[in-house]
Amino acid sequence: MGKDDFIFIAGPCAVESEDQIVRIAKQLKELGVDYLRGGVFKPRTSPKSFQGLQEEGLEYLLRAKEETGLPIITELLTIDQVKKYADFVDIIQIGSRNMYNYELLKEVGKTNKKVVLKRGLSATFGEWLGAAEYIKQGGNEDIVLCERGIRGFDNATRNVLDLQAVPYIHNNTEYPIIVDPSHAAGNRYMIEPMSLAATAAGADGLMIEVHDRPDESMCDRSQAINIEQVSNIYNKVKTLRKVMK
Ligand code: PEP
Ligand code: MN
Repeated sequence: MGKDDFIFIAGPCAVESEDQIVRIAKQLKELGVDYLRGGVFKPRTSPKSFQGLQEEGLEYLLRAKEETGLPIITELLTIDQVKKYADFVDIIQIGSRNMYNYELLKEVGKTNKKVVLKRGLSATFGEWLGAAEYIKQGGNEDIVLCERGIRGFDNATRNVLDLQAVPYIHNNTEYPIIVDPSHAAGNRYMIEPMSLAATAAGADGLMIEVHDRPDESMCDRSQAINIEQVSNIYNKVKTLRKVMK
């Protein structure tokens, strides 16, 4: 997958402007990450929240790719969006809310793009693997599972990062699994320890929300870390991977 068989994905929750995504992409490129993330169709809990820049946002994301050479991953929400935009992205992200959207999964199965399939908000491993099977049946086997935290009873944190997903998926399937500590934690201070824990558990990669001005993030501000913080994580993860070998 990425360099050293480890895929490091970073970028803002949402593309906010051409300047914002190009600026962040340049710094992440310098750091050495493998993929740039940036949401353009945002599945927000409230319809009053920022919904993403839509097609215009994808143009900016593509601009950032052009400027840096970084391949891109973005979430697609509908069958129409998959038909229209799959060709333009390097990885299609299927979000937690859509893990059970079987018609959408079938459409993604018809593409030849790598897919990051996020675990549903409270999906069992069996349900998650069933979703992956829908994609696979269409002929697309390039599937990467992403653990992003599941609903718990304690709202002190956004979700509960289920790191058991990593050994479970490795032990029972052929799929690679990456971990998104950002949506699991919902706060900044847990991103580094959970990234290192995921790496130690044997995850095949990480997806982390990064903003160069975290306090100005239009989306998921409380979990956005800055470039310096992601650099620290990146370097520690590389060191930990070496030690583990
Ligand atoms: C995201 O990655 O920005 C996102 C919306 O994630 P999830 O689907 O895990 O909530
Ligand atoms: Mn987000």
